[in-house]
Amino acid sequence: MTRLFGTNGIRGVVNQDMNSTLAMEIGQAYGTYLKNTIPRPTCVIGTDARLSNHMLKSAVTAGFLSTGCDIVDVGVVPTPTLQYTVKEKHFDAGVIITASHNPPLYNGIKGTANDGAELTKDVEEAIEQIYFSKQFLLSDWRTVGRYSTWSGAIELYIKGVLSQVDVSKIKKHHFHVVLDCGNGAGSLVAPLLLKKLGCTVTLLNCEPDGRFPGRHSEPIPENLTGLMKKVSETHASFGVGLDGDADRAIFIDENGSYLWGDKSLSLVGQYMMKKTKGGITVTPVTTSTCFEDVITQNNGKVIYTKVGSPIVAEVMKKNQAVFGGEENGGLIFPAFQYCRDSAMSLVTMLEILASEEKPLSELIAHIPSYEMFKTKISCPNEKKIPVMDRLAEEMKHHKEIIRIDRIDGLKVFMTDGWVLMRPSGTEPIFRVYVEAKQKQKAEQVATYYKNIVDSFIQSG
Ligand code: MG
Repeated sequence: MTRLFGTNGIRGVVNQDMNSTLAMEIGQAYGTYLKNTIPRPTCVIGTDARLSNHMLKSAVTAGFLSTGCDIVDVGVVPTPTLQYTVKEKHFDAGVIITASHNPPLYNGIKGTANDGAELTKDVEEAIEQIYFSKQFLLSDWRTVGRYSTWSGAIELYIKGVLSQVDVSKIKKHHFHVVLDCGNGAGSLVAPLLLKKLGCTVTLLNCEPDGRFPGRHSEPIPENLTGLMKKVSETHASFGVGLDGDADRAIFIDENGSYLWGDKSLSLVGQYMMKKTKGGITVTPVTTSTCFEDVITQNNGKVIYTKVGSPIVAEVMKKNQAVFGGEENGGLIFPAFQYCRDSAMSLVTMLEILASEEKPLSELIAHIPSYEMFKTKISCPNEKKIPVMDRLAEEMKHHKEIIRIDRIDGLKVFMTDGWVLMRPSGTEPIFRVYVEAKQKQKAEQVATYYKNIVDSFIQSG
């Protein structure tokens, strides 16, 4: 079956593949799916700050209402705010109109289950099936859905986030934080949250603006140069950069240095292990070994998953994990909710600094360091499976390999590092990731394995 949902909802270019007809039919399909089990479902809808937010929200809303689902519109909110509202107010489902960190011409539709978590693959497939069959369950005129708005989501969410940390302890430190919301939906939450925690806040790009005039939305180093500069100029305690829908947070230390997501994930993971006295954590196979190092040192255990935050959250739920997340700054705090949450990452980072009473750079220096090397090779989609099969066979004969896992792609372990060969789920490419203790070694191994993958693609 053709897939509609990618790893993070449905995304596309506005008025091309992401248009109002599609949006309305997604609303009808999702509404039909809910009506199969709930007589009168209520769904919460919200958007990020993109210019096409009303167009798509109205279309999705019309679809839901036509199936006899009620809609509560919470306006422009970060994705985790919408997710928390669904869970906390006991709604039956949620929809957020967002394309996360993608450029402004994109937008997307992402569903949320009644516990606030992203939809599982089974549910997405059920909705897709209804969408493609066009068997929408339209309601009688008497039972068409009702539309209402609710303006309390942000206040509810801020109160919830603050309940997760020691506010008075953080307040005593009067931290100075440089906050770069990238003109995204986080602008409506993060500044308020930091003020409530007694922080001095220097704001960068904190006016919601769907054209993203300040910087590109993805919190990668080249997009956070302004933030890094501002942190060193102002001698702030640290900096934080969010993506467009504020589920991911990337930190900048007090010297203005960019901290890779693996490092902040590990620092927070280490702290969570101390707080919960060990426990299970979950992360995708792409995460650096530094995470497993600090988790196991602190009586914890790591379960690895395929790439994608919905699967991480799902495995966390099944295993009663106490913490999890991805290497891109998407951290999940299950005591609060089962989804990536930049506000939770931010307040936890403040609590860590308040507890440890050391600068962020010093805390990060204690996290083990590895060199990661990533490369990609173009590969037609139809060759991906045969290439994977040949690679799996080939690796059995490599003496340097001590362990192979097939969680996502093919991950092979050597005594001093690992290689992950993984076909992309969305693009015609094959990715090769290598981690080793030394940079030169990582590059050398990457070239070696890249050549093997390449020769299989060429000859396959
Ligand atoms: Mg995002």
